[in-house]
Amino acid sequence: MFSDIKSALSNTLYKKAQQTLSTSFSSRCFVCQMPLDEWSHVKGLCQCCYKDLPSYHERTGCLLNYYDIRAGLNRPNWQHQLALAEYKWPFNQLISQFKYQNHYASGTLLTTLLKEKIQLELQQQPHLKPDVLIPVPLHPIKYLWRGFNQAQLISEQLSASLTITQDVTSLKRTRLRLAQAGKTRIARLKKDINTFKFTPKCANANYQHVAVIDDVITTGATAQQITRVLHQAGVKTVSIWTLAITPA
Ligand SMILES: [Zn+2]
Repeated sequence: MFSDIKSALSNTLYKKAQQTLSTSFSSRCFVCQMPLDEWSHVKGLCQCCYKDLPSYHERTGCLLNYYDIRAGLNRPNWQHQLALAEYKWPFNQLISQFKYQNHYASGTLLTTLLKEKIQLELQQQPHLKPDVLIPVPLHPIKYLWRGFNQAQLISEQLSASLTITQDVTSLKRTRLRLAQAGKTRIARLKKDINTFKFTPKCANANYQHVAVIDDVITTGATAQQITRVLHQAGVKTVSIWTLAITPA
């Protein structure tokens, strides 16, 4: 029933989001609001802000090998982690614009930067190229409320530019996550068990390596649950690709 409602009410919104994603660029820098000049390595950023971006350029390979990243995660069970940046300014501002203010062009900008980082990583380590991209799904009710899934928009863009298949139907979120405020950490983790269900829709889907796409990783609890169901289904390697991550 949820899928019927979703397709009836939200398909238009999703298409509109995709359309806007590719077309809505203002003439001002998304970070400093100064008018954009001819320079446009990345649409939406002026040259100064691009040069000032804090990034993980000095961090190569899997982020799980870095102490402050690993220490900030709740027992990571996935094999590889890649993020564009730390969850701090200006990335937190751009992600907030993307998720909560329907400023899809900010999402495009961030995904373009993430794609460049992934391409660099795959050039150096081609064996890390996954078979498929799977965005973290929203619960149908939350999808209806928000009108789009930010992880799916990121995944859609990465799939097209990296020519890696995307699967948006096999992984479902079966529980609606209610407000977590006031709950202990143990209660939160307990409540989150069995939130996801993985049922490959395609009979030929025999994924060995899946890259799960999300916008932000904080404790890693969601990534941990998804990795568990993917491993149970026979997936050998799980990579988590995100726009931002919160170190310890
Ligand atoms: Zn700027």
